[in-house]
Amino acid sequence: MKIFINPGHCIGRDPGAVNEKYGIEEAAVVANVGAGVKNYLEAAGHELKILQSDNLSGENPIYPNVCLKANTWPAELFISIHCNSFTNARAHGTECCVYSHWSEADRVAYYIQNKIVEKLGTFNRGVKERNNLIVLKGTNMPAVLVELAFLSNEEDCQKLMYRQDEFAQAIAEGILDYLSDN
Ligand SMILES: [Zn+2]
Repeated sequence: MKIFINPGHCIGRDPGAVNEKYGIEEAAVVANVGAGVKNYLEAAGHELKILQSDNLSGENPIYPNVCLKANTWPAELFISIHCNSFTNARAHGTECCVYSHWSEADRVAYYIQNKIVEKLGTFNRGVKERNNLIVLKGTNMPAVLVELAFLSNEEDCQKLMYRQDEFAQAIAEGILDYLSDN
């Protein structure tokens, strides 16, 4: 299967969420996790492309266009990877976002969500419907946006710093379980 990985934000351009205490940026965490997912899925025989870019859908033409690349390849599955953040440092846990619950993407999302929660012991915030996210709106194939955990929460942040390989494994295993069950 042709699977497209989009680590969110853009190192050096758009750090995404930042944990000031540890000086850690979302863009760097998700780049590592995305590279890990790519390795695990390639090892399982799938075809992968990965792109982290400051241009999600044509808004910054000097950078490669994420949705366009996925659509023209064409990818059969699209996974965007992010970290969450909130003003209240108590907010924590993992969630996956899909354009609509009435979709194949929703089924993929549950596999990924459950695998991350099981492996990392993060709080299960569930699969949420978000119809305003560019990468979910602008892609033609089933697309899931994974919010690994909260950079703004101490316990979650420790996992995001020191257990990146397990997040990558969990996403890959979730996708592989989905594919073998369907
Ligand atoms: Zn983000």
